[in-house]
Amino acid sequence: MTMEKILNYIDGKLIKPVSDHWIDNYNPAEGEIYSHIADSDEKDVAMAVEAARKAFPIWSEMSAFDRSNILLKISEGIDRNFEALAKAESEDNGKPLKLAKAMDIPRASANMRFFATAILHTETQAHQTDQQAINYTVRSPLGVVGCISPWNLPLYLFTWKIAPALAAGCTVVAKPSELTPMTAFLFTKICIETGLPSGVLNVVHGLGSKAGQAIIEHPDVVGISFTGGTVTGKKIAATAAPMFKKLSLELGGKNPNIIFADCDFEQAVSTSISSSFSNQGEICLCGSRIIVERPLYQKFVEEFVRRTKALVVGDPFEEETRVGALVSEAHMKKVLSYIDLAKQEGGEVVAGGNQIRLEGRCKDGYFVQPTVILGLDHQCRTNQEEIFGPVVTIMPFDGEEDAIAFANSTAYGLSATLWTENLKRAHRVSHHLKSGIIWVNCWLLRDLRTPFGGMKQSGVGREGGWEALRFFTEQKNICIKL
Ligand code: NAD
Repeated sequence: MTMEKILNYIDGKLIKPVSDHWIDNYNPAEGEIYSHIADSDEKDVAMAVEAARKAFPIWSEMSAFDRSNILLKISEGIDRNFEALAKAESEDNGKPLKLAKAMDIPRASANMRFFATAILHTETQAHQTDQQAINYTVRSPLGVVGCISPWNLPLYLFTWKIAPALAAGCTVVAKPSELTPMTAFLFTKICIETGLPSGVLNVVHGLGSKAGQAIIEHPDVVGISFTGGTVTGKKIAATAAPMFKKLSLELGGKNPNIIFADCDFEQAVSTSISSSFSNQGEICLCGSRIIVERPLYQKFVEEFVRRTKALVVGDPFEEETRVGALVSEAHMKKVLSYIDLAKQEGGEVVAGGNQIRLEGRCKDGYFVQPTVILGLDHQCRTNQEEIFGPVVTIMPFDGEEDAIAFANSTAYGLSATLWTENLKRAHRVSHHLKSGIIWVNCWLLRDLRTPFGGMKQSGVGREGGWEALRFFTEQKNICIKL
């Protein structure tokens, strides 16, 4: 059987990599290769950048109204191909099909629609200097930009980056993760059907160290929007900063989920199950450190563990599956090694803790039981390092000061969740948390107009809403003497 080849999309066409080298693409639920990915290098990236450079004058000078219409048609294309995209997202990533349908694909379509319409409502500023002069500020698209995205929410985060870039009038060279390239590939077919002008979006598939690095290093790529791990982010910053490229880095997290004794218990437990194990815990915003105020600690642990054990780990295509496969064998081994580390550090595994062997189609897939660990302190590696899997720790705390100190005790600062019915406490504690997003009595509730991003080692810059559109533009002030 010939396997599907995931081709690059350069200058409006789907083409093979110059080297004709290919990487195996695994279906993680089956542990089997099911397609091949273009193993692109700097030659493919050079072609993509050249196509983007040529397309820039046309795209950047097109009226916002016309750009908006094209991007809206792409969003309609996502809606039309909903079933195929959701299936591909699940096959590539291992996530439950149900989740891909409920979250990834609708949010990908929403990203395109949001930025397509946002550009119709932008404003510029003017400042009058007494009776002497009038200043006005103009923004213009940055130029050719690079958008690099990770594997955990493949199409969602791919569109989260390219939509504002394209809407702002930039032309793009994008690279999805080599672990989950299929939906970006299907997306490029939608772009062709929709009539997106050639060269406006170019997608180069392949390894981060080769194709990704070539995008970062290319002198004509003037801005980089990157989402991925903190270690990769450091490397990208080291390459891009001396070239004075504009950088937006959305990186890892080790997010606290803070539960006060005065919370709405049912809501706190049920949402905490989602914020711990949705997408197999492979969401940068998952609350992997649960801290519970001591009077509620025992009751919370008992109920949380009971519900964790009831989660159905299974074939991602089955309707009742809540936890699917981890994205790769290497990632599964990393997650399992952290469970071992937790035990060495004195942790007690009270739910899960092991790989699961399923039967049938998924017998060789990369499944790990949802895992709950107690008895660790805040400084141990298990509580400091990002695991990015279905593994949480639960610890008790005493009072607000304790909660804030524990929550802020890592190098990361992406998101935090807070459960309390006390309004003043919600404000007070939120103001002291070093996190870019704080959810009070909810989780993953997103309004695309709000700034999104991390503090400390969780990133630099803000995406979302106007922040993203501003990132992809440069501004100048024009001062006219009256
Ligand atoms: P990763 O850093 O390994 O890879 C991300 C992307 O960068 C991939 O496309 C990869 O090919 C590419 N890449 C790798 N090395 C590169 C290099 N030298 N130059 C250019 N590109 C390179 O991350 P991952 O494993 O794909 O994703 C998981 C990580 O992403 C986790 O740490 C998670 O927290 C983080 N994440 C953050 C957010 C956020 O919004 N802050 C969202 C999702 C995921």
